Amino acid sequence: MEILYNSTREKGKPVRASEAILRGLSQEGGLFVPERIPVLDKSPEQLKEMTYSQVAYEVMKLYLTDFTEQELRDCIAKAYDDKFDTPEIAPMRKAGGAHYLELFHGATIAFKDMALSILPHLLTVSAKKNHVTNEIVILAATSGDTGKAALSGFADVEGARIIVFYPKNGVSPVQERQMVTQKGQNTYVVGIHGNFDDAQSGVKRMFADRELAGEMREKGFQFSSANSINIGRLVPQIVYYVYAYSRLLKKGSIQSWEKINVAVPTGNFGNILAAFYAKQMGLPINKLICASNENKVLYDFFRSGIYDRNREFVLTSSPSMDILISSNLERLIYLIAGEDADKNRELMESLSGNGAYTITEDMRARLGDFYGNFASEEETAGTIRSLYEKEGYVIDPHTAVAACVYEKYREKTGDNTPSVIVSTASPYKFTGSVMSALGEEYEDPADLSLAERLCALSGVEIPEAIEEIRTAPVLHTRVCGKEDMKKTVKEILGI
Ligand SMILES: *Cc1c(COP(=O)(O)O)cnc(C)c1O
Repeated sequence: MEILYNSTREKGKPVRASEAILRGLSQEGGLFVPERIPVLDKSPEQLKEMTYSQVAYEVMKLYLTDFTEQELRDCIAKAYDDKFDTPEIAPMRKAGGAHYLELFHGATIAFKDMALSILPHLLTVSAKKNHVTNEIVILAATSGDTGKAALSGFADVEGARIIVFYPKNGVSPVQERQMVTQKGQNTYVVGIHGNFDDAQSGVKRMFADRELAGEMREKGFQFSSANSINIGRLVPQIVYYVYAYSRLLKKGSIQSWEKINVAVPTGNFGNILAAFYAKQMGLPINKLICASNENKVLYDFFRSGIYDRNREFVLTSSPSMDILISSNLERLIYLIAGEDADKNRELMESLSGNGAYTITEDMRARLGDFYGNFASEEETAGTIRSLYEKEGYVIDPHTAVAACVYEKYREKTGDNTPSVIVSTASPYKFTGSVMSALGEEYEDPADLSLAERLCALSGVEIPEAIEEIRTAPVLHTRVCGKEDMKKTVKEILGI
């Protein structure tokens, strides 16, 4: 059955999946949402016999209904191949009474690879389907991981260029080095003097800038988005929840249809929203545990019904979650507002105008699937250390935020439902913070030889992504003020 996509900010005008992927954001700045969430048509017993790619097809076919079977299977085959260092793609590891779903086995060793290795292919197919002849310009803001994963996904993809903005002093040394060494004639990396929210707001402004769009069109360009607001990112992320469930079943850790909890380290609310969609599709999920770091806007929101970004921005050891505006939350707000675009738009206008909004009691009552909490920097480090001491398993700070919040949940509720903790980055991506947490001393967090010491401690091989950047030359040195992002884009495109 065909699924069309509506904007969260305007009624009517539904578009096909390929169009929603191509456009990223809707014209009035809304996000595309499926007009209804489809239901899984395979049982857990059937899913447990499938590979990652097969599960991916079963999930994605329900959303991308204007892709042919061949098109979708091709995209999946190009994405989930030996760019991943294990054929399982998303392996699981049991530790500390929970199951860690490792989503960091792709090219850039963080979970963004799960969606960004397929998005370029979904986008190229979408462009063909919609007879686009312009060159596609991918514009992205990154808190660290999206940037590299998008660059790597789009590098040398024909008919596309990619421009990535990152906060110059707001990403880890490894993240920055990964980006500025990116190869590919069509890749551009720009550091901005500002934080992630500045980068994201700047990108959103450019997407909404009609004058700029006109100038671009004249020169044969058009924007598209690789940010997590693109439905082409969200849909591939649903896959690994279904897959994780099927693996637990296969291992005998759960019974068919038994419920599980998932704990997700959250920033832009994309990953946990995918889990929520999985639940709506019929996957037996009990609680969605939303874990924040000290930028705990979401925790406060779940507690009070007030979303308020007016607060100090904290730089933490989990930089990919240092976010005060969780863009994907808008999709949830739209749903709990009864799919009322006007109501949602009002709240979002209040967010951009006053930096805050308050939801109604009715809406709050629909948030029962979620549990929110946060982990302080000290708790995060403590979690890394204690898991290592007990189990010899080393996790990164983002994952540790989720593990810590999961423990808080379990203590508070006594709920012992089998649980999946989503592990979003390899500890090698944040070696400095991880070594500090383990009580190891060092002088320079950017020192790449720290990886060797971590290897000796954890017994986990150094990923190729880290080996690579040790010797790769720096190819990108552009830096600009947060007000000059548009000017920089025009320079890059020569318009
Ligand atoms: C992006 C990212 C997150 C946050 O995911 P959202 O979808 O933005 O909530 C968490 N951990 C890591 C390592 C990330 O890269």
